[in-house]
Amino acid sequence: MRAEELLRRYLEQRRDQGEVELVLDTMSVDDVMRLIGAAHRRETSSASTDASDWREALRSAGARTASPAAPPVERSLSPAPSTPASLPPDGLVVGSEGRELFDGELGHCQTVQHVEALIGACRKCDLYRTAKHPVPGEGSATARLVCVGEAPGASEDETGRPFVGQAGQLLTKILEAIKLAREDVFIVNVLKHRPPGNRNPLPIEVDACRPYLVRQLEIIRPSVIVAFGTFAAQTLLDTKLSIGKLRGAIHRYHGIPVVVTYHPAALLRNPAWKRPTWEDVQLARRLLDGVRQ
Ligand code: SF4
Repeated sequence: MRAEELLRRYLEQRRDQGEVELVLDTMSVDDVMRLIGAAHRRETSSASTDASDWREALRSAGARTASPAAPPVERSLSPAPSTPASLPPDGLVVGSEGRELFDGELGHCQTVQHVEALIGACRKCDLYRTAKHPVPGEGSATARLVCVGEAPGASEDETGRPFVGQAGQLLTKILEAIKLAREDVFIVNVLKHRPPGNRNPLPIEVDACRPYLVRQLEIIRPSVIVAFGTFAAQTLLDTKLSIGKLRGAIHRYHGIPVVVTYHPAALLRNPAWKRPTWEDVQLARRLLDGVRQ
């Protein structure tokens, strides 16, 4: 039996089984045309390999092919199934969800006040020598959102409170915009003493001070962390990636979602960053509201 006849019978058999639109499993259009001796048609045509080729080829082989199926109207008119696609992708993951234990007294701290007392007595780096006051952080010990900044500035050093200068006032407004009062959240810096002249923190200072932040987060166990500024983001996420690369993703710090955004002080210098910051804190709000947990 000729290959062409075999193919015709095969196709009729498939049609009798109810198939309308054929999917020629592993066969290309050229394979089919070669099989039914219609390869020459391609050479004389415009060398197209669109869907009409194989139908035409099959028709010339004697098979009755159905017209192309009508487009599935319902499907094409319906919107794509709604997914939380509006959320950005997952980002960096630091640590496991279990507790991160420290040796010594810090590991036994059960309250933020206890951590605060240890910070007040800390001599692990030289920053306490030049600072006026330690700035351990403040806010609700049961906060669902923790704001992490870089280090105390002059106003913070004077008062012992985080984010109280101009940048702090802006942070308060940012929080209000997502329906949070300062008292509802916990506000903290990576460094607890002010670097002289607001210089950048040194790696040795960060390494010395980081355990306090980790313990504070362990005790508070917030639902969301917002890292304000490159320094806070890089310290929390243990990365050197720029803030531009860290924004727009949901990172994980010991299982807690981390949103990265610009530092309020940077917003004061560059108002163009207000819009992306607004988008970032909106994301934090949505995470708090349980869009994805
Ligand atoms: S900055 Fe941190 S590590 Fe350095 S003395 Fe203050 S609390 Fe201790």
